Amino acid sequence: MIEVTLTGLAMWSLAGTMIIIVFFSWISRWSNRNAERRSLRHRMHCPVCLQVYEDAAVRQVGHCPNCGAANEKGRNRSLG
Ligand SMILES: [Zn+2]
Repeated sequence: MIEVTLTGLAMWSLAGTMIIIVFFSWISRWSNRNAERRSLRHRMHCPVCLQVYEDAAVRQVGHCPNCGAANEKGRNRSLG
């Protein structure tokens, strides 16, 4: 039979609680980071009128809803 003291039981329950809290906080942070990354993937910035908008379409070029300028998705490294 396993003998458990009250101090040992309290220590194990505290350690288990701490492990569960750390695990779920890590899951929460990971989930929030993924949601933010998904949101930023569809966020576009119009260099003409400086409006920021979201375009969830698959196409590479989106049109600004404010001024109608064509904007490329992702990082644009062209000059001009
Ligand atoms: Zn625009």
